[in-house]
Amino acid sequence: MTHILAVANQKGGVGKTTTSINLGAYLAKLGQRVLIVDLDPQGNSSSGLAIAKNQLSATVYNVLVEGVAAEQVIQQTSVKNMDVLPANSVLAAAELELSQQQQREFQLRRALGGVTDRYDFILIDCPPSLGLLTLNGLVAATHLLIPVQSEYFALEGLGQLLATVKRVRQALNPQLVLLGVVITMHASRTSLAAQVQGELRHHFPDTLFETIIPRNIRLAEAPSHGKPINQYDRFSKGAQSYKRLAKEVLQRVSK
Ligand code: ADP
Ligand code: MG
Repeated sequence: MTHILAVANQKGGVGKTTTSINLGAYLAKLGQRVLIVDLDPQGNSSSGLAIAKNQLSATVYNVLVEGVAAEQVIQQTSVKNMDVLPANSVLAAAELELSQQQQREFQLRRALGGVTDRYDFILIDCPPSLGLLTLNGLVAATHLLIPVQSEYFALEGLGQLLATVKRVRQALNPQLVLLGVVITMHASRTSLAAQVQGELRHHFPDTLFETIIPRNIRLAEAPSHGKPINQYDRFSKGAQSYKRLAKEVLQRVSK
């Protein structure tokens, strides 16, 4: 069975892309066949995996809006066992164009149908909004993974995200499961970080991942080299934490 994880949070800059790339890379290292779906017009997970996103003749946009087969657009990455369905700024037009189509929330699910059996994990890197692209991600997914930045306003917006998930379950995708909430960019020795962690543990006692992703400069540097952290600095704290997260994810989905 393929596990399809929507990595979503309508806030920008919380670690969705960093988590998609690096969790994906460690799942691949653990022998899983992985596809990263870049569903953000910023195309950060594409460029972070060394895809020259502005030179592509076709992207996830053509797959969603024009019905081009995903397999024609999927590219290999430098990580063995990990492919990417890339995006670039053209995808920004998809919100509007999809809104005029029938089955507008189901286009990603339809598109992935043709390639799902080639992968063990599909990670969907969602854009920072709750618009139609993210809805397509939530409808295509079996699981939701929410990265939350360790900061004062961490919980803000989570209620709205969970309300959206509830509506998606009721109307579009009853199977969708909250796989977990992962704290990112944690500055472990500050009292603010401890407070945020406590609050999240209170609100998500069963779903908060034990692994906490620390703030680590190597994680921020890696994308400019087009590499996931295991290829850029596998001994860094950031690398070790994403490796642990991958193991935790594997345990959770096999329960
Ligand atoms: P999102 O996809 O949710 O917008 P990103 O993954 O792009 O968030 O992260 C936002 C910024 O923070 C990026 O510049 C990224 O390199 C950096 N970043 C993400 N996670 C970490 C971390 N654990 N430590 C340091 N910098 C990080
Ligand atoms: Mg992103």
